[in-house]
Amino acid sequence: MSETAINSTTEPTVASFSLERGLQAWREEIDAPTAAFFSSCVHCGLCAQACPFFVETGDPKYTPIHKLEPLRRLWEREFTLWGKLKTRLGFSQPIDDALLEEWEPLLYDSCSMCGRCSMVCPVGNDIQYMIRKTREGMVASGHAPEGLIAASVRAVNTGSPMGLQWKTLDVQIKHVETASGLTVPIDQAGADYLVLLSSMEIINFPEYLEAIAKIFDHAEVSWTLSQECFEATNAGVQIGSKDIAAVLVQRVVDAAVKLGVKNVISPECGHAYTGIRWEGPNVIGRAYPFKVFHIIEVLDQLRADGRLRTEGMETDRLSMHDPCNLARKSGVIEQQRHLMKLVAENFIDMKEHGKYQWCCGAGGGVSSNERAEELKMAAFRRKKAQIEEIRPDRLVTMCATCRTQLEEGLEEYTMDIPVVGLTEMIAEHLVEGEPS
Ligand code: SF4
Ligand code: SF4
Repeated sequence: MSETAINSTTEPTVASFSLERGLQAWREEIDAPTAAFFSSCVHCGLCAQACPFFVETGDPKYTPIHKLEPLRRLWEREFTLWGKLKTRLGFSQPIDDALLEEWEPLLYDSCSMCGRCSMVCPVGNDIQYMIRKTREGMVASGHAPEGLIAASVRAVNTGSPMGLQWKTLDVQIKHVETASGLTVPIDQAGADYLVLLSSMEIINFPEYLEAIAKIFDHAEVSWTLSQECFEATNAGVQIGSKDIAAVLVQRVVDAAVKLGVKNVISPECGHAYTGIRWEGPNVIGRAYPFKVFHIIEVLDQLRADGRLRTEGMETDRLSMHDPCNLARKSGVIEQQRHLMKLVAENFIDMKEHGKYQWCCGAGGGVSSNERAEELKMAAFRRKKAQIEEIRPDRLVTMCATCRTQLEEGLEEYTMDIPVVGLTEMIAEHLVEGEPS
């Protein structure tokens, strides 16, 4: 890790960060696509109409392209002839700590990195990717939210953004084994799948691990947990630090290589999945010697192979929230619907679903940032409106952060609609006993 990043053994100090380090991080981020981005924006405002934070607040400062102003200003001042001239003549606006302080809530509190703005931009600008780049300079300059800094420090120092250690998971494993009568495999060299979890699942949804144990036993899947690395979420991706992201990805790679597994399974966490699957090889600078799947992809493959034998159907009116990282950013859309068809006879999609799904408002580190609570609930009003349109009895999802936000948001707006995880729902319908 570079010394600009959050230190792996000590709390970050003010001296670790500075405006100049932030500006230098941005200089390193500015490349041809960045220049093309700023040059090609036609200021149509379509990205604003796609952003739940803008749509639900109506505040123009939450326009996605506007959130990138500090990086745009640096690009103009130092990378364009016009900007250099303006700067020399004293007409260019400065980039100082006051500007970054003002923009910190725009870059962190009002962006869940959902990618909806990128999808609609008529000139193909990937705005959420640019927000990720801009966060690199914000961290290095010391302008990242306290909650995210603390989560990053805990992730680096303890292996979990919530500070969980193996002994906490071990207690859960014992509960799962007692409840199911199964053995949860630990550190099994040569297993086909290394299963990763997210802290939020371990704390909020322990039933997920039990569901995995039951399904994999049923389908005779060879799998294991690793005592050396059980956490899949990547606080480095969320805060916007490639250095931290690389440390956390490398831990997964080391554990997978040590056990010699063929595949790694990301849990029901959207950012964990895109972090380990898409960003991971880039931040560590090489390809993995294993494949990465979201648990839903694995379950759908088992279904397609005839290895999931289910019985009984849910009769409630069920609908689904597609996590942005899974559906819009990774194209995992049909898999969860195939699985729903196995167990639900009264499923209805929201009007905008799959790649057009509206974000729940909690991703991209927003849920780790206490200061953003009010905005997070404001953004949820988009999801609430979608839910009200179809009035389901229950909602199904496949991301622990989305699920927590859905539960909190529905409670906040006094909507009595339970939320369930898809993996658990599948586990509840398994045919017991030996395959015929
Ligand atoms: S949608 Fe694209 S072109 Fe339009 S304002 Fe946003 S970034 Fe610029
Ligand atoms: S990525 Fe999502 S939350 Fe962030 S600016 Fe774009 S639409 Fe808004």
